Amino acid sequence: MSKSPFQSPRGTRDILSPESDQLRFLIEEFVSLLVSAGYGQVISPMFEDIAVFNRIGESTEIVTKEMFDFFDKDPKRPQHLALRPELTASICRAFAQHRPITPWKVWYAGPQFRYEKPQAGRYRQFLQVGAEILGTPDPAADTEIISLAYGFFRKIGLQEIKILINSIGDNESRKRYNEELVNYLTERSSALSEQSLMTLKKNPLRVLDSKRDEDQDVIAGAPLIENYLTEESKEHFKKVKEGLDLLEIPYEISPRLVRGLDYYTQTTFEFVSLSLESAQNAIGGGGRYDGLVESLGGPQTEGIGVAIGIDRTLLACQSENLDLDAQTRLEVFVVDTTGGREALLIADELRQLGIRTDRSFGGRSMKAQMKAADRSGARFAIIIGTDELEGKEVTLRDLRGDGQQITMSRESLGRDLLKLI
Ligand code: AMP
Repeated sequence: MSKSPFQSPRGTRDILSPESDQLRFLIEEFVSLLVSAGYGQVISPMFEDIAVFNRIGESTEIVTKEMFDFFDKDPKRPQHLALRPELTASICRAFAQHRPITPWKVWYAGPQFRYEKPQAGRYRQFLQVGAEILGTPDPAADTEIISLAYGFFRKIGLQEIKILINSIGDNESRKRYNEELVNYLTERSSALSEQSLMTLKKNPLRVLDSKRDEDQDVIAGAPLIENYLTEESKEHFKKVKEGLDLLEIPYEISPRLVRGLDYYTQTTFEFVSLSLESAQNAIGGGGRYDGLVESLGGPQTEGIGVAIGIDRTLLACQSENLDLDAQTRLEVFVVDTTGGREALLIADELRQLGIRTDRSFGGRSMKAQMKAADRSGARFAIIIGTDELEGKEVTLRDLRGDGQQITMSRESLGRDLLKLI
């Protein structure tokens, strides 16, 4: 086969079945938890005024380097737009625009875009599902968000996950801490990478987020924010931890977890898969962002949220050998050598009963249809030849295992199959 001249753009991929089905399954599993906890969906635009995303923070690489931005075609006043690199900023923009009743509990799902260096588990278009609660400072909201994400990872069967949490305090805590941190880092500036020296000027806290080798010694000895938290921030963090303890959710305190976005306050957390390479092992994360709505022109409104990376969650499932196809795999394939009338009727009947069923088209030979049945991944083939048609029966063949066959009544086929599957 000659290679097609067009390929999907660098850092993106066409996701075909069964991988696409598995991703959809993962999204649905999380969404069903969110719906049962009172969250409603927000569908916001894929692109926004770039200024909305700039609020994510001028010292984050997402803003400085990774935005897919463009101007629209308005000849007089072209608007500077960008594809969304994440959804929290859009949700807060929507909150400021519509002023819904609080607490506003919402979820979203869809692709995000970042101009990153592509590698395994790091794409320029990737899927996130997330949840946000706006309008309450209650630490129970932080606990709820973390527990829902944890519940999702457990529900799909992931075992090797770790929750890292930290508090970066309120503004007052961070002001106190920043002074100490700047002194510490400035004294050691000759040992820091050039990138971190730039970050130091814009947002010193974010230097702690550096993954560069040369920065690690300095970061390891840096003062810890927990020693600078105000009483209120300490109390907030204590309540979040107590909530997690009550729900028996295991976590690890990670005193240097500041996360990649500038807007966080108080609680920050990350879900790590121990079965993935460390550079791409974050499968979800989030935190509080009590000032973001205000920075987007809305009223002072607290917020807490989580975003789960669905592509990476799937990689984690694969490396833990989880079977995600069980709920999407075909159950029955109908093989009809009598002209196709029976295939039409049986497929329709079984689908109405919720049995995942396929059939072949084009009146092909028994051999060709059986091959198609094998390839389809279905558990059973239902075979109708002239003998079966005359005897008002069908033959049921187990396509896995030893290929056992039994004869079943055509009339009670649907009911009998439901018992079997
Ligand atoms: P963030 O918005 O950076 O906190 O990311 C939340 C989650 O999205 C991460 O934990 C990852 O699982 C996922 N994620 C972030 N960037 C990428 C990317 N470039 N490719 C795939 N997944 C990503």
